[in-house]
Amino acid sequence: MKTLSRNCLSLLLVLMAPLPLRSQPSNGDWNKVPLTALKVGVAEADITPAVGIPLAGYVGRTGGSTDIHDPLKVVAVVFDDGRSKAAILSFDSIQLLQADGDDLLRAITKVTNIPATHIVFNASHTHAAPWLSTDASYRQTVISRVVQAVQVAVDRRKPVSLGYGEGAIDFNINRRAINAEGKSVIGLNPSGPNDKRVKILRIDADDSIEPLALVKNAACHANVFRDANKQISADFPGLAKSFVERAFNGRTTAMYLQGCAGDLRANLPPLSTGWRNGSEADMTWAAWSLGAEAVQVSVALRVSEQLQRRSRDLKIFAAADTLHLAADPEKLKNPSALRRDRIEKGKIIFPIRTLAIGEFLFISLPGEPVIEYGLGIEQDLASLGKKVFVLGYGAGDVGYIPVKRMMPEGGYETEGPYWAESEAAIRAGVKNLVSKMFSQK
Ligand SMILES: [Zn+2]
Repeated sequence: MKTLSRNCLSLLLVLMAPLPLRSQPSNGDWNKVPLTALKVGVAEADITPAVGIPLAGYVGRTGGSTDIHDPLKVVAVVFDDGRSKAAILSFDSIQLLQADGDDLLRAITKVTNIPATHIVFNASHTHAAPWLSTDASYRQTVISRVVQAVQVAVDRRKPVSLGYGEGAIDFNINRRAINAEGKSVIGLNPSGPNDKRVKILRIDADDSIEPLALVKNAACHANVFRDANKQISADFPGLAKSFVERAFNGRTTAMYLQGCAGDLRANLPPLSTGWRNGSEADMTWAAWSLGAEAVQVSVALRVSEQLQRRSRDLKIFAAADTLHLAADPEKLKNPSALRRDRIEKGKIIFPIRTLAIGEFLFISLPGEPVIEYGLGIEQDLASLGKKVFVLGYGAGDVGYIPVKRMMPEGGYETEGPYWAESEAAIRAGVKNLVSKMFSQK
């Protein structure tokens, strides 16, 4: 309740506030944003497909999309520390396949010279968007628009200051209910593992109240609109983005990075007939809770006491690797059940990426890791003293990624090729890649 009332308050403040002035004559040096040697450029591309394209995420949903509820976008944030460039891209998309990622990397690298190892992709996992591969010409349009957006971001880069804060969201909940036999069933599990935080990276390029960009990272399936919906939509991440951008008078670009949301969803109670399709009210609740909290946290990061704490040393480090994880030998006996995972010679092909921008560390996992990966990897890396963003939904041909603890419970998230050994292998792979990255000159 505390979170909800705080959100309501911040929402009211946003709606009632007069347009803030960009700079006031009374500002002194104490209120100057401490710009650094790091440069950042931001741009976005519209990737809304033509109406009619089938939407992804539900095998039972038939027919094409009928309308556009809200647009799909890609946001590109390019970083440049003077030695190298890096980019983070968020996609309003269900997920990126390995081939999508590879083609995007090739096209972006060719035009912008940003090394492929320095590019991180993140899909929001909206269930009201298609796979890129659903339509070849749509896929090609997306790739060329994304390349253009990254180039525009490169051209726009300017010195920045980065601020970090955390807030709370109230709408996500664990969806692995446990029955009397100790088995996992689809439902709501208020006491199941969860992460109620939203992590905020505020990027300022001048002394104005409005940031250049605001990066929000939380974890929750973007399927408020379910299979009954046939409208194209970016789901709550897209509507939170427009909320934040409205609050900052259209002078800010907001980006959402999806965390390890494999077993988290919006807290919409199931009906006896199954999950209910979220309404406009449900969508607004989730999106504005996130957006209002992001605005509240980010305006607090702009006061002079917070400006004094900002880091001046924002060097870029990046690394990428592909883990070859042993698959469960039992599951391999029925390979047709493992539709989403690419398996070669008994190994799951599992690409991972790490990117550090000074004290900010981004870990990118493919597919749908459950929230315990987000919490566990953050713990594994705690001794580094960094602000860690553990992201799911990077490009890759993998499905749900359960942790060891879940295996005896079974359930939807454990149906893939992973087994009890997988969690330790993934966490060790991430730790190794991070130390390899920081050992680079
Ligand atoms: Zn999912």
